[in-house]
Amino acid sequence: MITVALERLVPEHIRRFEAYIPSKPDDVLMKMYRCRRLYRLNNNENPLGPPPAARKALAEFPPPRAAIYPSGDAYHLRRRLAENFGLDPDQILVGNGANEVIAFVIKAFCREGDNIVTADKTFAVYEWVAEFSGFQARLVPLKDFGFDDRAMLEAIDERTKVVFVCNPNNPTGKYWSLTRLKSFLDAVAGRRIVVVDEAYCEFVQQPDYPDCIRLIDQYPNLVVFRTFSKMYALAGLRIGYLAGSREVVDIIRRTCVVYSVNGPAQAAAMACLGDREHILRTRRLVREGKQFLKAELAGMGLSTVSGEGNFVMVRLPINDNLAYRKLMSRGIMVRSMTGFRFPGWIRVTIHQRQVLEAFVEALAEILEEV
Ligand code: PMP
Repeated sequence: MITVALERLVPEHIRRFEAYIPSKPDDVLMKMYRCRRLYRLNNNENPLGPPPAARKALAEFPPPRAAIYPSGDAYHLRRRLAENFGLDPDQILVGNGANEVIAFVIKAFCREGDNIVTADKTFAVYEWVAEFSGFQARLVPLKDFGFDDRAMLEAIDERTKVVFVCNPNNPTGKYWSLTRLKSFLDAVAGRRIVVVDEAYCEFVQQPDYPDCIRLIDQYPNLVVFRTFSKMYALAGLRIGYLAGSREVVDIIRRTCVVYSVNGPAQAAAMACLGDREHILRTRRLVREGKQFLKAELAGMGLSTVSGEGNFVMVRLPINDNLAYRKLMSRGIMVRSMTGFRFPGWIRVTIHQRQVLEAFVEALAEILEEV
């Protein structure tokens, strides 16, 4: 038998890297934890489901078209997005979720010895893609649960190519105002690519929250990420995009694998972009749910951190992985936060009232028991 000489095949940065294992499907988990139903409060999904126009587009998608490749560069969707935001279609790249476009950017700008800068407690995929691609991720500690602009500027060195700012930050919900973001961009002075990940922007209603797409003209090194997974409730279809100056997007386009976004996803996204009614209904659900949850948790003596976005972080007096397992056996899945470098915390997605009630009740039981 021939064994593979992996030692010599595998680069050091891959050897060191530990694969992320996503959660198992509901049917498997329900068997494992012996529960009859499972509420997923772990992935910041929108419990209202897709807007009506997206549902219609999906229902009307002709099955024979599954045999045909979709538009390889989401031609019509890019035109629709461009019209919506006052950009040129060539300033937009659509990906298989915003997750995919992270790699486009890193691959386009980093070479051996380069690094990216981001926060230590934020969406982890920036860090992971950099590291498994062989680049250093310089992680700057959060300050008061938000991105620390000064420390980020200090962390930038001559080998930094891309800076990732998650605004609002997942998982803390804190955000940079327009003034703060602009002074950060001014300090960077076009010398690095600055990515602002706005995955949760449609949830934010603060008057000083910046819409970064409007800043692209002024800052050609700015790249903005958006997704249809959160507000538009199309997470299962995997579709997101980036926008930037024509110059920068021309470079990023070279690293993007075309045909990665399926036809139903393109059709559904195009149909529902900008559906105000859906956005308002979702915002109401999130506002009311957050209020309810925070009051209940405060009543239990638990502290929470939340800001913008459809999620709340909760500090527990017990180990978060233990809480995860105990909640799972009661049919409730949350995000345990040790992996996000927040040991002792969980992140909970805002859901329908009756689901949040079930969560609160289960958590109260668990805390009583321990
Ligand atoms: N950015 C942030 C901040 C996120 O929270 C997520 C999803 N959890 C993504 C990007 C990726 O989203 P998508 O589903 O579009 O890949």
